[in-house]
Amino acid sequence: MNELRGVPASPGFAIGRVYLYRDDDLDIPEYNILERDVVDEMNRYRHAVDLATKDLEDVLNRGGGDPDGFLSTHILMLRDPEVQAKVDVRITRTRKNAEWVLQDVVNELIIKLGTVEDVYLKERTLDIRDVSRRVMQHLLGKTPRTQLAELKSEVILVAPNLMPSDAVAMNKKFVQGLAMDVGGKTTHTAILARSFEIPAVLGLGRISKEVKTGDWLIVDGEQGRVLINPTEELLADYRAKQKEFLRRRHHLATLESLPCTTRDGKPFILKANIEIPEEVPSVIEHGVEGIGLYRSEFLFIQHGALVNEETQFLAYKQVLEGMGGMPVTIRTLDLGGDKLAPDAYPFKESNPLLGWRAVRYCLADQQIFRTQLRALLRAACHGNLKIMFPMISGVGELEQVLAVYQDVREELLSEGIPLPHIPLGTMIEVPSAALVSDHLARMVDFFSIGTNDLTQYTLAVDRGNERIAGLYDPLHPGVLRLIKMVIDNAHFAGIPVAMCGEMASDPKAALVLAGLGLDEFSMNTVSLTRVKEVLRSLTLSEAQEVAEKVLKLPRVEEVEAYLSAYSQGRFAEIE
Ligand code: PEP
Ligand code: MG
Repeated sequence: MNELRGVPASPGFAIGRVYLYRDDDLDIPEYNILERDVVDEMNRYRHAVDLATKDLEDVLNRGGGDPDGFLSTHILMLRDPEVQAKVDVRITRTRKNAEWVLQDVVNELIIKLGTVEDVYLKERTLDIRDVSRRVMQHLLGKTPRTQLAELKSEVILVAPNLMPSDAVAMNKKFVQGLAMDVGGKTTHTAILARSFEIPAVLGLGRISKEVKTGDWLIVDGEQGRVLINPTEELLADYRAKQKEFLRRRHHLATLESLPCTTRDGKPFILKANIEIPEEVPSVIEHGVEGIGLYRSEFLFIQHGALVNEETQFLAYKQVLEGMGGMPVTIRTLDLGGDKLAPDAYPFKESNPLLGWRAVRYCLADQQIFRTQLRALLRAACHGNLKIMFPMISGVGELEQVLAVYQDVREELLSEGIPLPHIPLGTMIEVPSAALVSDHLARMVDFFSIGTNDLTQYTLAVDRGNERIAGLYDPLHPGVLRLIKMVIDNAHFAGIPVAMCGEMASDPKAALVLAGLGLDEFSMNTVSLTRVKEVLRSLTLSEAQEVAEKVLKLPRVEEVEAYLSAYSQGRFAEIE
């Protein structure tokens, strides 16, 4: 028996036989072409793109499903005119064959994304590889593999790296679990595994080298473990865990259509966080009341720092219309110098997380900000839009942002574009903003607490640094006091408070947040029912007692212990 540890990417347990899937390493030829063949070479590339597009459209038409819209996004990526133009220019300049040029262009894109700090954006390199591999296979005259679509018996899929389009195309009925060498929680394949409800552990390093087809494997998507050829005892143990997990999932699904109110009738609003417009259909299926955070920066990484107004307008309109009148909070660009491609931001910062990020960047480069605001305002009449600003650190900064917003609004009105009232909010994710939230509350229509950053800045713990991860905890009394201060100040000024940081998806934290008076919880869709379950099983006064008790505790360990004990004693069902 051998055990490997990775990232728990999709919850649940899978027990079964390995099916090892390896994608062929493609041999990329390099040769020179004659000047008179340049146009033919460009056409050969276009033809390969057409065939790759057709592959993906066929998967869509076969009803493989496109739950989070990845296939549609990949089709758009294939058709990206900028990549097409780059390939054309490079074929003309270098007179090299299309395969070589494509590899060159893709490597360049991947190197650019490699300099990005944000894990989510970094992981988009997998999509680029996926899309370009398809085109490459057609250029080389190879038929893309179809064996995943043809799986006929239950397996646990193990791969060095399963591309999102393979995950969509695979015969999901027979894939019990997934284990991969690479990837993390926000890899598209992980997002897909969650939406297909397939337990997955990613980032295992060398699972594809440790197993062969036919081996027994346990995938523990809760703890992020895989057990290779486990003992009979472990198998029995995991079969029991699996049974319990499925019973619980079934129970949680029954909550989706129920209102999110405490036992004594206090309602809480549950919303979803999204990164790409294509996530909207799955959001709707989970019975939410809106989108509490649309991280618009993803559009910018897809299309480059200068994504135009029209492209943005269409994306925002798609989300607003898709949500059919439910509120959609779109956050303006939260890119930092570290997150942008080096050509957009050539300076190296020694502390990028404390650097030229979000509104700081937008206020310095107002053209990008104004273009985004124009697109947002134009899209507003297609749904129920709210706009919020990230990384606000104080009153002066918020004033500047609101002045630009007002100016853009007047510009559009003077162009004869009718504009509805749009509620404006600010994220509270910098400790100074929390500390002056009494002033900020008088300037906007709502707050949304970003606990991912608020925790990182309050505790001085880099949220991405594994070595100090043990110190990162939003239940730290220092963070809880700031959250209380923000909620109290907002309510005193008569505005609602949402939370869109990961803390909102922690059922244990929900006990305290409800007691502190948080109005809205916004999170990834997989956690919604677990949080709803906690909120529905409490009375408001019980939650208030918990919050009062916890706020008196001096140490984070005591807060954690108290909430765990309370949850276990009070809600047998909650882990
Ligand atoms: C946060 O900081 O909590 C937040 C929601 O923003 P992001 O995770 O995108 O920085
Ligand atoms: Mg943040």
